[in-house]
Amino acid sequence: MSDVSVDGREEGLMSEFSYTNLILTAKEKALNGEKLDRESIIALLEIDPDSIDADMLGMAAREVAEEVTGNRASVWASIGVDYKKCAMNCDFCSFGQKWGLIAQESERSAEEIIELTDRFVSQGARWVTLRTTQFYGFDRLIQLIKDIRLAVTGNYEIVVNTGEFDEEKARKLAEAGAQVVYHTLRLREGKDTRFRPEDRIDTLRSVRDSPLNLAYLVEPVGIEHSNEEIADIFLKGMEYGAILSGAMARVPLPGTPFAGSDQLSERRHAQIVAVTRLAAGHHTPDICVHPPSRIAMEWGANVVVVETGAVPRDTGNCDCEWHGFDMVTARDYFENAGYVFYSGDVD
Ligand code: SF4
Repeated sequence: MSDVSVDGREEGLMSEFSYTNLILTAKEKALNGEKLDRESIIALLEIDPDSIDADMLGMAAREVAEEVTGNRASVWASIGVDYKKCAMNCDFCSFGQKWGLIAQESERSAEEIIELTDRFVSQGARWVTLRTTQFYGFDRLIQLIKDIRLAVTGNYEIVVNTGEFDEEKARKLAEAGAQVVYHTLRLREGKDTRFRPEDRIDTLRSVRDSPLNLAYLVEPVGIEHSNEEIADIFLKGMEYGAILSGAMARVPLPGTPFAGSDQLSERRHAQIVAVTRLAAGHHTPDICVHPPSRIAMEWGANVVVVETGAVPRDTGNCDCEWHGFDMVTARDYFENAGYVFYSGDVD
């Protein structure tokens, strides 16, 4: 009887001890500029998000964030350009034509987008993303980037989040004035989406072989995704040289195939973010959490998204900031997590 009890305690202590070692080793590697291997990433993802070990993981990730970011946090502003039905019908996206959620299509004019960009930049956004559906015209996008660059001065970076493109188009985006592309191989690409994973990877390759930088979150994370799947999708971003990573939780929207499914808990989401922080270290200094989360910021995220317009995680076209999360609230989150606000203007 006593053996069982002692063994039980010993097992508990051993597991705590090994997680402590695992976390400390991961932190040391991150600070030394080493990347984490797949097995260590999976082991960190196995920690119970509601445990004290998870708190320790988060604390380690926050310490790494302080070191690799200079303790600076920034806002990723995102403008949904076109509120249009999309024939690709990704299972998690409100724009999917099949889900019938868009009653009235609309599109922001160039003037409106310039005005929004100007507002976000003057409020300190470091990045401004032009998010379009898969079939927004490429030449129109190029013109839009040029118009914004002419009209809005400042040290911000323009990010493009659009469909697939080749190397020549990547070069044209850079020449027009874009610095970053947001693109990913999504979780269960080809199953929950109608894309061939190879085509998404071809675009990642085009970005890597161009002057553009890659931003790549692990997304859209749901409760069904295994630690192995999360690790593999994260590592794909590292393989293609992402300068920004992190994790985006799926929002289960009524009317889509994920209606009624549970959303990730905030602690699980924050844990995944913390693991990406430790695994990416100095290689990927900016780690983003979306939707915004105070716990994730305390656990190593230093970037949050303020978005407006057409939002694929909502069933309407947002006239103001999504869920009321604006630049002022973002700065409050940064302060709360002990970061210094960084707009990219001062180095
Ligand atoms: S995620 Fe992109 S490609 Fe998929 S349905 Fe939405 S807009 Fe279309």
